[in-house]
Amino acid sequence: MAKVLTTQADMDAVFRKMERDYGALTKKQQAYAIKEIGRIRGETAEMLADFADTDGVIKQQRTARLLRELDVIEASLRSNGTIVLEGIIGDSSEWTTRAITAGMGVTLSATQFDRINKHVVRYAVERFGEDGLVLSDRVWGLSGGIRDELSTVIRTGIIRGDGINAMIPKIRKVYDNETWKIRRLARNESVTAHRAAIGYNAQESGLVKWVQFHAGVKKSKPCVALSEEDRYGKGTGIFSPVDTDLWMPHVNCTGYSSYVLDERWL
Ligand SMILES: [Zn+2]
Repeated sequence: MAKVLTTQADMDAVFRKMERDYGALTKKQQAYAIKEIGRIRGETAEMLADFADTDGVIKQQRTARLLRELDVIEASLRSNGTIVLEGIIGDSSEWTTRAITAGMGVTLSATQFDRINKHVVRYAVERFGEDGLVLSDRVWGLSGGIRDELSTVIRTGIIRGDGINAMIPKIRKVYDNETWKIRRLARNESVTAHRAAIGYNAQESGLVKWVQFHAGVKKSKPCVALSEEDRYGKGTGIFSPVDTDLWMPHVNCTGYSSYVLDERWL
């Protein structure tokens, strides 16, 4: 196994390149999440059309029934959101595992590959964030928020006697206003999976005993503190690969971890 590892400088270069490439991956994932979750806009517009008369106006006495129909929209947002985010987590994990094994020249068995990704997905889906919530809570919160805003827009439109042609752009606006939340959610879940995969890969392959944490380009306070901490007496910023507090120290974290070449192979 020693032959696959070269120098710490080479190892650092592998991780720097991986972080650059990962930046492109996470941007693609965010765009995908926004597009997929935004598909519900069409469903909402169709629902309004179903409730409108031929003149395109929705009668006031239909308001209560229409607002109850938003249950369906909210349920679609939840199920769609869950599928999209779990997909992103799985992709990030597999992508990271491939990048590490290719960069370091190691081969994992299919069983090892699956085991790493199962660990990562489970961690990402079940973890409690700094908000005290798990992934499904965050998706439900987002869906409920969109539903509440749709409800306000629809109720106000009907009271004013607006036709659906006037209401649909406002419905689109509701989704557009939530875009930043979807982007943030996609990014945070993806980054968590990416870093968890770095940790579980180290553990599974037994290649390294330690990781180094680097504060990101934003030099956020919690990350600078981590990068200066000497938790194990191995040097500042040196941690165990399974120290989960490195994986998502705060939202929009730009920090990253790299492997510390094991002295056993030197
Ligand atoms: Zn950070």
